Amino acid sequence: MGDQSWFKIRVYVVTFCLAMAATIALATTYRVFFEPQVVAAPVADVVEAAPSAAHDPVEHGFIYTADQGRSTYSPPERVALADPSNYGERYTVDAYGNPLTHDYIAVLHETVWSANSAINTFQTYHPRDADQSSYHAIIDRDGTVIYIVPPEKRAFGAGDSVFDGPNGPETAVTNPQFAPSVNNFAYHISLVTPSDGQNNAPTHSGYTDTQYKSLAWLMAQTTIPKERIVTHAVVDRSHSRQDPRSFNWPHFLEYLQQYPSRQA
Ligand SMILES: [Zn+2]
Repeated sequence: MGDQSWFKIRVYVVTFCLAMAATIALATTYRVFFEPQVVAAPVADVVEAAPSAAHDPVEHGFIYTADQGRSTYSPPERVALADPSNYGERYTVDAYGNPLTHDYIAVLHETVWSANSAINTFQTYHPRDADQSSYHAIIDRDGTVIYIVPPEKRAFGAGDSVFDGPNGPETAVTNPQFAPSVNNFAYHISLVTPSDGQNNAPTHSGYTDTQYKSLAWLMAQTTIPKERIVTHAVVDRSHSRQDPRSFNWPHFLEYLQQYPSRQA
C-alpha cells in the first residue's frame, strides 16, 4: 500500500467523520427546535381534551349539576369533531333583526348508516350550503356518545322545521334563502340505526337498550325539559323525514325518569 493509498483512506475517514458530525449536529438542532412541538400534541392530550370538549355544556347552561353526582351510569364518550363548514354560530337575531330568545329543544334522529359513515360525511368539507349537515352527538349501537358539534354551535340537523310546543309554533329564519328551521335553538342527537334499517322501510328492529340508556344520560346532562324533546319527524315540514323510525318512547322515558331532576 503506497502513500497515495494511505492518503485516500485518510480522506475517506475524515470525510466520514465530518459527515457523522454534521448529521449529529443537524439531528440535535432538529430535536431542539422541532421535537417539543411534536411532543406537545400526543394522543394522550387529544384524549384528555375530549371530556372537556364534551362537557363544554357546563359553560353554556346545559348541565343539571344535581344529576352529575347521583348518576351511576356513565357511557363511553369520544369526540369526532365535524369540519367547521358543517356547522355555524347560533344567532341572537334573525335575518330581519328580531331577537331570537328560544329555549333549547332536543331533536332526535337516526343515522340510517353506520356511525363512521355519518362521521365521514360531517368531517368532509362542504362549501355548498345545500350539502352541509351535522348533529351535535351520535349514540352508537354500544351506547358510546360521540360528540360531533360543540353544543354552543348551531348544527345543521333539520332544515325546514317548526317546533309546535306548549308556547305555540317556534322556528327561526336565519337565512332568507332557506325555509325557517329549529336549528338555531336545537340540540341534535342521532341514534345509530340497526343494520336491518339501512333502507327506506317505515320500520326496523329498533335501538339497543344501551342506546336508550345513553340517550337518557345525555338528556339528563342538559337543561332541556322532557316536553322539549322531539323527533325530527315531528318538527319536519318538508314531509320527507320519518326519523328516528321505531323509536320506543316509553322505554326512553323509563330511563330518563331515573334521573332525580327528571322525576315528575
Ligand atoms: Zn333527521
